[in-house]
Amino acid sequence: MSTEHISPEQGNRKFLAKLEERGVDVQSCFQCGRCSAGCPITEFFDVTTMEVVRLAAYGMEERLLDSKAIWLCAACETCATRCPNDIEIAVLMDVLRELALRKGVKPAEPNIPLFHQCFLDSIEHWGRAYEVGLIAGYKLRSRDFTGDMKLGLKMFSKGKLNLMPHSIKGKAEIKKIFSGKGKEYER
Ligand code: SF4
Ligand code: SF4
Repeated sequence: MSTEHISPEQGNRKFLAKLEERGVDVQSCFQCGRCSAGCPITEFFDVTTMEVVRLAAYGMEERLLDSKAIWLCAACETCATRCPNDIEIAVLMDVLRELALRKGVKPAEPNIPLFHQCFLDSIEHWGRAYEVGLIAGYKLRSRDFTGDMKLGLKMFSKGKLNLMPHSIKGKAEIKKIFSGKGKEYER
């Protein structure tokens, strides 16, 4: 069935079923606010953590996929740890990011998924993160040439950034994971 033929009610049901599949029970939220109070980056969110959960319970998928909060969430799990109902809020954020990417929703914070992509490209190519290459790739693709310059220089002066990449032994296996043939390496 194509998405054009799904009514909003059906779409919401599908969205809620997807959350249930991933073990996220948004309906049990009673809006106590403990998640928002503990989130270390809540001041940068356009929708607070408890609002994300409430909007999800209402099935308001589009509103959530357009939000900055889903991209800014650092998946630190503080909210889930504090939730008296054990709601997996970090997983909820993951599901929302996945849905946004799958549906081609323009990210409200485009440099964050771009950074994730540069990180994954680095892993695929080198088998591990090659920081200098990752930063160069990110800077070129984001056109943000000056951001974090001071921090980069400080890290470099402390020997935290290697100019040359280090390879790993299992590069072929890592490449297979990226090509979708890595199932045999799963435990
Ligand atoms: S801590 Fe849990 S129950 Fe409380 S508002 Fe957040 S998600 Fe809802
Ligand atoms: S997992 Fe995300 S929403 Fe939860 S506390 Fe951490 S940053 Fe905030």
